[in-house]
Amino acid sequence: MPYWSIYCLYCRGYIADALLECLPASKRVAAAYRLLFRAKAGAAIACPYCNGLLGFDDSGRPQAPQPGWPVFRYGLAELEARKLADGESAATPLAEWALRHRFTQPGSHPPLTEYTYAENAPPMKLSREEIVFLRHWMYDEVHFQEGSGAAKRLQVEHGVAPADLGILIAAAIPDPAEQEAAGQGPAPSTVPQWPWTEQALHTRIAEARASLGDRQAPASTKVRATDA
Ligand SMILES: [Zn+2]
Repeated sequence: MPYWSIYCLYCRGYIADALLECLPASKRVAAAYRLLFRAKAGAAIACPYCNGLLGFDDSGRPQAPQPGWPVFRYGLAELEARKLADGESAATPLAEWALRHRFTQPGSHPPLTEYTYAENAPPMKLSREEIVFLRHWMYDEVHFQEGSGAAKRLQVEHGVAPADLGILIAAAIPDPAEQEAAGQGPAPSTVPQWPWTEQALHTRIAEARASLGDRQAPASTKVRATDA
């Protein structure tokens, strides 16, 4: 559920049951999830047939999502569990189950054949200027005992919390090896430019939070550790 009864804008596949119970649980608590459930503007879902992004206008008609709307994707684990609950065996491919039970009227694309599941959601895309700045800033953070670097000074001057830039990095440059390389240097040769207006940065941080919703671990397990 819910039962939308819409045709995809791009592939004309028919979605009667939106199957939103198969989004990852961590995403189903987001405010934007309520908008998606009620077919309102402000959130998007990746089409189960063609993987294109579908949103809604204010009267509930499908439309292309606006930039910055959080994107929801089905979870592979949730769909596998759903398949078993529908009486299929574990060996049945998801695409077969979907065509038989759930997404039964494809347009130009069969369901779940080239789908990007929540577990494999791509990192958030930033502009080249933003990436250059964040790399510079990571270098400055690691080398803070050698004096304040230019990117670090810009962050302080703009009154932006390091934690917020950390969220952008986690969403857009998630590979720890890439982060480590930026932090270690060599020092960037260019002078960093602050790449955001205040509003643009707010939007970016909201996008980053939305995109990280897929990958956040539950906070319930505390690991005990000893000092190195
Ligand atoms: Zn589609």
